[in-house]
Amino acid sequence: MRTLTLPVGELGANCHIASREAIPGSGILPCVVIDPGAEAEKIDAEARKAGLAVELLLLTHSHADHLGAVDRLLDLWPAASLACSAETSRRASDSRLNLSLYLGFPLACRPAGRFIGDGENFAAAGLEWRAIAVPGHEPGELVYLAEGGKYAFTGDTVFAGSIGRSDFPGGDGPLLVAGIRRLLASLPPDAVLFPGHGPATRAGDELAANPYLAL
Ligand SMILES: [Zn+2]
Repeated sequence: MRTLTLPVGELGANCHIASREAIPGSGILPCVVIDPGAEAEKIDAEARKAGLAVELLLLTHSHADHLGAVDRLLDLWPAASLACSAETSRRASDSRLNLSLYLGFPLACRPAGRFIGDGENFAAAGLEWRAIAVPGHEPGELVYLAEGGKYAFTGDTVFAGSIGRSDFPGGDGPLLVAGIRRLLASLPPDAVLFPGHGPATRAGDELAANPYLAL
């Protein structure tokens, strides 16, 4: 798998682009865009420059800094679709629940074309995916595993050396910590985690040294 990570927007949320590795003669490859938070034109340009066509947009959760570019990208890529949990889709279309009202740019994301449930396997961009529910930062949040758990797009659940806030509406700190522990224990120690903010890390490193998981 090949990944590109683009920090976008004022809050520097990570937009990740995932695709198969290009091989000579493979031409334009489909890709999955995870959490297109802002700067649709930049995301679009980087995808095109890498020889990628957007097949699917995935949202880990509904907070506005992770979805602000959804509508524009779906306009630019009319064949692409949007998928997330049903709860995330509901919250994403509400400017209070997606926090955009309080961030000063009220927006209502369009509804997802497809809902994904906890434990669901699906294929996209020639890759195998699995969704795992990790609530506690926000109800309905999904972590997306790719390639049998070798890679995990963790949204605002676990970061390198930190975890997501649990003081937003619907947040629950103990639930978040329990879900992260369960997730990381299920992954190979060298699984690469791509969080919604900050640098990539590894499952084993966070289990061993993340101070928020120590208790
Ligand atoms: Zn968030």
